[in-house]
Amino acid sequence: MPVGVLALQGDFREHIIALESCGADAIEVKTLAELNRCHGLIIPGGESTVIQKLATNYDLFEPIKNKIKSGLPTFGTCAGLIMLAEKIVDGIEGQIGFGGLDVSVRRNAFGNQLDSFETDLSFKGITGEPVHAAFIRAPIVEEVGPGVEVLSSLDDGRVVAVRAQNVMGIAFHPEVTGELRVHQLFLKMVDSR
Ligand code: GLN
Repeated sequence: MPVGVLALQGDFREHIIALESCGADAIEVKTLAELNRCHGLIIPGGESTVIQKLATNYDLFEPIKNKIKSGLPTFGTCAGLIMLAEKIVDGIEGQIGFGGLDVSVRRNAFGNQLDSFETDLSFKGITGEPVHAAFIRAPIVEEVGPGVEVLSSLDDGRVVAVRAQNVMGIAFHPEVTGELRVHQLFLKMVDSR
């Protein structure tokens, strides 16, 4: 069974390439039938408000929410992390996500000056070279609920990667820097279910 990438908006093509580079069978998800074929799902980076709107218009919002709740391995990057957070800070009026991660996430947390930057991170479960991370109008995880594991933080302690059971969310974009090890970690979550 393939791993799906929600392909409504954002950098879903980069995720498909990353998954294929890891040797996985990857498909774009735009319909319920495609969603139902997947045994794992990636929510890409992009613009969370647009992803919310399009998911609703494509009748995918509730099905994705329910799949995550019933255990579908799911991985969100940047806007994808926002879509997986139970609580969104600095969202637009009426903004909600699919949920799945008991965290509070602040949108556009780095402001204008530090709009985008790259840095090296240590990441729980990834050994060897540090993870090279691109942050693009990135969110930050401000509160972490019980049962949520912190996988990576910036030097100042701000949390940028978390995992709880079947859901992993990260504030940066490994899919744009050729960093495959976070996708490999996700594929292990998919395989172990
Ligand atoms: N700022 C975007 C949002 O709120 C996220 C940016 C990104 O995914 N690179 O959705």
